[in-house]
Amino acid sequence: MDVLSHGLWGGVVFGRENKRAFLCAVAFSVLPDLLSEGVLLLLVLLGAEGMPKFEGRHPNITEFPGYAQGFYDFTHSLVAFGLVSAAVCLLLRRIFRPLLAWGLHILIDIPTHSVALFPTPFLWPVSDFKINGIGWASPVILVPDIALLIVVYAIWVVRNAAGKSRACLRWAQPSSWPRWFGFRGVRRRSWWLVRKIRKITSFVPPR
Ligand SMILES: [Zn+2]
Repeated sequence: MDVLSHGLWGGVVFGRENKRAFLCAVAFSVLPDLLSEGVLLLLVLLGAEGMPKFEGRHPNITEFPGYAQGFYDFTHSLVAFGLVSAAVCLLLRRIFRPLLAWGLHILIDIPTHSVALFPTPFLWPVSDFKINGIGWASPVILVPDIALLIVVYAIWVVRNAAGKSRACLRWAQPSSWPRWFGFRGVRRRSWWLVRKIRKITSFVPPR
């Protein structure tokens, strides 16, 4: 799948809690491609030995030297993902949710890459088995992918807006009025105001 779709899927599935979680999930979604195809592209640009020529076409992973293929094998292996996730889980003593976006990246890539262009080595190093999927650039994959992303993000935005308006309505309900206008509420806010005024008036500027 393309990098942008990976980032958007990872963010919406594993990063809905807050902005930080979203950005973290997006990062773990795009890292498998940046640390593999990104590194391969960099090596080509740097003129590393044994690298294939692009010349109007995208070379397949098998045309790269073995050590370069290793980047793609590691970042697109469910075995590597499982081992790294287990290690992180043991270290943190909890599941680090944004990291799961890496696993989602591999699962999305398996059916959206053909053997002709970067098939997903999801069982590396246990097995060399790869699925001959449909390349993500095909409209059969790209059109439903964009449509689904639009639907999922629209649902997320509408749900967020509904949640915020529900919170506003809760404050407007008569049952919450004593909290604001009751004796205790007024006393609490008055003391808060007195403390603020005291703090401001007792401020002595440094000489
Ligand atoms: Zn990928």
